[in-house]
Amino acid sequence: MEQLVSLCKRRGFVFPSSEIYGGFAAIYDYGHYGALLKNNIRDAWWKHMVQWREDILGLDSAIFMHPTTWVASGHVGSFDDPQIDCRTCKNRFRADHVLESYGIEADKVPIETINAELERLRHEKKLVCQVCGSKDLTSAKQFSLMVKSNLGSPTNELSEENVVYLRPETCGGIYLQYKNTMDALHPKLPFGMAQIGKAFRNEIVARQFVFRTREFEQMEMQYFHHPSMTKALYENWRATRWEWYKAIGVPEQKIRWHKHEKLAHYASEAHDIEYNFASLGGFKEIEGVHARGDWDLAQHAKFSGADLSYFEETTKERFVPHIVETSVGLNRLFLMCIDLAYTEEDVDGETRVVLKFPHALAPVKVAVFPLLKNKPELVVQARNVYVDLRKQFLCEFDDHGNIGKRYRRQDEIGTPFCITVDFDTLTDQTVTVRDRDTMKQERIALSELISYLNQKLCLLS
Ligand code: ATP
Repeated sequence: MEQLVSLCKRRGFVFPSSEIYGGFAAIYDYGHYGALLKNNIRDAWWKHMVQWREDILGLDSAIFMHPTTWVASGHVGSFDDPQIDCRTCKNRFRADHVLESYGIEADKVPIETINAELERLRHEKKLVCQVCGSKDLTSAKQFSLMVKSNLGSPTNELSEENVVYLRPETCGGIYLQYKNTMDALHPKLPFGMAQIGKAFRNEIVARQFVFRTREFEQMEMQYFHHPSMTKALYENWRATRWEWYKAIGVPEQKIRWHKHEKLAHYASEAHDIEYNFASLGGFKEIEGVHARGDWDLAQHAKFSGADLSYFEETTKERFVPHIVETSVGLNRLFLMCIDLAYTEEDVDGETRVVLKFPHALAPVKVAVFPLLKNKPELVVQARNVYVDLRKQFLCEFDDHGNIGKRYRRQDEIGTPFCITVDFDTLTDQTVTVRDRDTMKQERIALSELISYLNQKLCLLS
């Protein structure tokens, strides 16, 4: 993890937030290459989930919603994690994670059970702080993950009556715009709505770089359907999402399914896709696929008074649509891509660090260099090549340092191809193209360059 964090900062992928003020915990900013990589992952998801389908509609709803939204969804009442503190080193932990480190399954169990288990460990003198080893730990208490704000009322008058929440998940916006979408676009069931956006959670512990942060992005899709179709659709969505990981270049042996044994009371099925993070030491959740029943629309219908039922013309049946949801964190996918791409190779006794991104996700596709910076004829020709290529590919021009240093920099940001304009180019109109993964170089005619790159760059399809 240290290597990834350092590379991400050094090469402008991810910066700690507010660093000049000493930093701001569990929040990160994305630099130039990070923003490009994140956009590519986002686009790959949108293409698969919206652009290439006829049955999914897009949405971009606001972060702030009517506060009753989160009462209806159950978040205000029970979106909590159990927290314990170490009185010696003042570190804070998720009590369920602490119990899991002792092999005790504690996901979604009542706080009383958690405290009983903690008490048992304390009694057996086994309960110790995972940071400092002290035995002086508090008992567990619930910690709400909801982030509060004020809107339309003065900040200094923030009270329970005028509080608004920053959404803890993006799908709330989809449920609230289900009716307008039906009225405006008249989709027939089954159909889905998808959106990408920011979500906020007051995470108790967030020490895993961009894996768990307090501000993050989700890409969520809610598929509305008749309850008789849930089983088939659920399996179908699991298969579709699995295929997406393969399509973006994730080897199947790096991901697995985790089936939830304990389900929310309204859910009939829940599986997570987990990725085996080298940087986090094992499999961790990146995406959830859930069968949520009619809970969401039924709750919002109840709390708002709106009719969110659907009338099926063919059977003359009226019902509240059920939902299969797919929900993935963009920042976790980002970390997965870096984790998967990070490679160290021994080249002539030196370590080469290279990010072997799948071509479709690489932030920059092609870099163009003049062999020498101080030869205007080479620089002019190289800039012409660059200006030509950037119309088609995300492209960079680089004339800093020597060729070796430029290759090293492009390897570290994962650029698949580097093109060098040299003295031969001026006479025979060919350039050297160097492949990131094999480091092999080929001479290619300038007139063939675009079709060569188009053929070599495996972009998403
Ligand atoms: P976890 O158990 O890791 O806290 P979760 O089960 O609460 O995650 P969901 O509510 O199902 O997560 O959210 C769907 C997805 O959103 C997750 O699979 C994850 O990719 C992403 N996500 C959730 N919380 C965070 C966070 N704090 N930081 C980054 N991504 C997150």
